[in-house]
Amino acid sequence: MKDLYISTDAFWSLALATIEVFRKECFGFLVGYETSDGWIVQRAVPHQTAKRSHLWVEPQALPRRRIEKALHSLALGEKIVGWFHSHPESSGRPAQATPSEEDVAFSEEHDVILVLAIRSQRKNVGWSQNHDGSISGSIGDYHVILGAFAKKRGGEVDRLRVHCAYAHGFKPLRHSYPKALDEEQMVA
Ligand SMILES: [Zn+2]
Repeated sequence: MKDLYISTDAFWSLALATIEVFRKECFGFLVGYETSDGWIVQRAVPHQTAKRSHLWVEPQALPRRRIEKALHSLALGEKIVGWFHSHPESSGRPAQATPSEEDVAFSEEHDVILVLAIRSQRKNVGWSQNHDGSISGSIGDYHVILGAFAKKRGGEVDRLRVHCAYAHGFKPLRHSYPKALDEEQMVA
């Protein structure tokens, strides 16, 4: 299994993007480097022009090329290594941290496909790596599983082992909002 390392910045961008639009899917590009045995994700950049429906988001090639050119001109050596999106739980449909057939079809060959499964929860769990290589834990009122894959030639995907030193190092705190700010009372 190849490795995928996620920086603190990228972890926060991924987590907050996923939570912000909960029950809808978020979408963005992964920016970083490829190494001999995997990838390093430095940043997660929102994709604002992605086509959306309730069940899927579709990346758009032209904005991706614009971002790639802009990154090249910044001469940081970083490039788009793939994309991320969330799979929120919905009624009768558990959130899965694996890409759908459409997700794989939308991806370019060699892309990293990072999927964040998100569901609401009652109890707090620290972040840890799972046997299948994904990582999971609590953020705020949510439980998030982060699974990563790489698209091979021919359309198959390989699972990646996810590492995020920052995620393993913090203890999620229980929220203590005043009741009036609780999500149940907010108008969507
Ligand atoms: Zn998906």
